[in-house]
Amino acid sequence: MKVGFVGLGHMGAPMSRNVFAAGHDLIVHDLRREAAAGLEVAGAGWAATPREAAAGREAVITMLPAPAHVERVLLGPDGLLSGLAPGSVWIDMSTSAPAVADRVRAVAGDVAVLDAPVSGMAAGAGAGTLQIFVGGEEAVFHRVRPLLEAMGDPERILHVGGHGAGYTVKLMINLLWFAHLVATAEVLTIGTQAGVDLATLRRCLLASPAASNFLERDVLSVLEAGDYDDSFALALACKDLGLAVDLAGAVGVPVELSAVVEQVYRRARAQYGETGGEMLPIKLYEDLTRTPLRLPPVSASVSAS
Ligand code: NAD
Repeated sequence: MKVGFVGLGHMGAPMSRNVFAAGHDLIVHDLRREAAAGLEVAGAGWAATPREAAAGREAVITMLPAPAHVERVLLGPDGLLSGLAPGSVWIDMSTSAPAVADRVRAVAGDVAVLDAPVSGMAAGAGAGTLQIFVGGEEAVFHRVRPLLEAMGDPERILHVGGHGAGYTVKLMINLLWFAHLVATAEVLTIGTQAGVDLATLRRCLLASPAASNFLERDVLSVLEAGDYDDSFALALACKDLGLAVDLAGAVGVPVELSAVVEQVYRRARAQYGETGGEMLPIKLYEDLTRTPLRLPPVSASVSAS
């Protein structure tokens, strides 16, 4: 397929490499030309503008930080939309909200539009095992499925509904994961401050109805290595939480818990900076008690087994 790709960051760079490796004819664009250096050496083309990245392409993928960036790339000067040919497909894989895509669809004529955000982090992007949630027309989804399979696990590439459904599913996944993170940080902090050994507390929680994947797997990067995962920035986490809370408002659902989780994340961003890792809200609690939540190596390997 002739493919354009815009946005070569933590996610877009490895995703576009996988698209190219799968044999697609690829042209890429980013604000930072250096982000394309490896791809250009390998033989992919460079587009100086989004419009150039879309010209003559059957499908164009965007992987951009937030709705404002998507809007600029699609509808701004030399935007993608001005280069997209009738019959082509724009696939937005950013974690975003439907408003921009709705505006594009309103004027897109015969250009098809899919929202197809992903889960799986930078590691999944590199391995080509992303989970992909697709909203839009099912026939268009089937047409571009081979392209999506270059980036994701075929078993976990799902058509989840009409336009915007992919964005919604993705925002709900992130909202629940961030809520797990904040709840887990509080529970581990209270329990250890009350005198229970961290490894023991975690082991008991894992054997209880309160167990979670987050507690079993994801939190280990902090507990074992003090790694707060800077491959997903706090700025993006706050963006996702803001979009999720906005979505709740738009559909008339009051969300006390989600709003508090968003505030905790905003506090972490204020404290540790925009580019800090998504797990830094745990450090808020560690700083409060002046006690890092760390497993000793032996206990960690026992409790992870
Ligand atoms: P990133 O900030 O690392 O990369 C974004 C890229 O877009 C950068 O290379 C930037 O230069 C480029 N860009 C920004 N504005 C541009 C413009 N106007 N024109 C051209 N290029 C522009 O972000 P990321 O971590 O790769 O995330 C991208 C999207 O994927 C976000 O919506 C994020 O929420 C989502 N996401 C990220 C992860 C993750 O683990 N990082 C996981 C799942 C989903």
